Amino acid sequence: MPERFDRCERFDQFMARANAAYYATHDPYSDFTTAPELTQVFGEVLGGWARIVWQMLGAPENIILAEAGPGRGVLMADALRVFGQTPVHFIETSPRLRAEQALRVPNAIWHDGLETVPDGPMILIANEFLDALPVRQFIRRGAGWMERYVAGSNYLEQPAEIALPDDPENSVREINEPAIAFVEQLARRQAVALLIDYGPLVSAAGESVQAIRNGKYADPLADPGSADLTAHVDFASLAAAASCAGADVQGPVKQNAFLTALGLPQRTDMLAQKSPQMAAKLRMAGRRLTAPEAMGSLFKAMAICPKGFPPLPGFEV
Ligand code: SAH
Repeated sequence: MPERFDRCERFDQFMARANAAYYATHDPYSDFTTAPELTQVFGEVLGGWARIVWQMLGAPENIILAEAGPGRGVLMADALRVFGQTPVHFIETSPRLRAEQALRVPNAIWHDGLETVPDGPMILIANEFLDALPVRQFIRRGAGWMERYVAGSNYLEQPAEIALPDDPENSVREINEPAIAFVEQLARRQAVALLIDYGPLVSAAGESVQAIRNGKYADPLADPGSADLTAHVDFASLAAAASCAGADVQGPVKQNAFLTALGLPQRTDMLAQKSPQMAAKLRMAGRRLTAPEAMGSLFKAMAICPKGFPPLPGFEV
């Protein structure tokens, strides 16, 4: 039975259901690509990052290495070659992607959320995870704010019970409540977490939800479950939530600065020299990840860590 999408629901509830249906039934990589899919060097330098963080934590034997939204498991498979083999915890809700991940990281332990990941010293990586979580949308109308709902293929608005800045008429604000809850949980656990995603350095008004269907931009409301819905990540609001929950925040910094500090260009060169048949692809991927007009500038890296933690690799000023 296909899920019914004809009832009236808040935009975030719609987005959550549409994305769950999408990830359960589609191969997302036929619609978009991501950093670990472009080059093995991305996962490898993050594996190196995690290895150094593990040493900074005092090299605990019971380290919990976790990833949220691991996609096809490529990032972690590449990272483990550098980090060393260790039990891995995956936070993933899609049964289809869990099966893909099991092909590349067979001994992983899967979870629906952070709640069931065991206690202990934790290093978590999430690349393009937060942007897939559902946002609430608010629109400035007159002296107040309305919240957006979805009924069938139409938007509806109802008065919002929320305090937001005095933006100009028709401005849109988005709030990603699950992302805020996620960073608060990381903060309370005293985890060291690396969040890589796309979004601005400074919170701003603006509608950022986009739908990708068959590799092209599409109407988010048309044929729910057939398109990948994402929203820009508001790093500033996540940083504020993490600090309120007792953690320190490092960054956000632009992806190109982060990956360059971690040695992505050098590792790319080294690999390209070793395997000339892969050289062109590796170099092109490296440029795509770091060029400001490609992914180097829109994507940011931000870390959450226990209070007083020393500067993490890639975040030293
Ligand atoms: N990190 C991967 C995948 C990004 S796509 C990469 O870089 O290629 C988003 C991932 O988050 C997918 O694995 C998707 O199934 C997962 N995901 C989306 N919403 C989720 C949720 N609410 N809980 C857990 N995983 C989720």
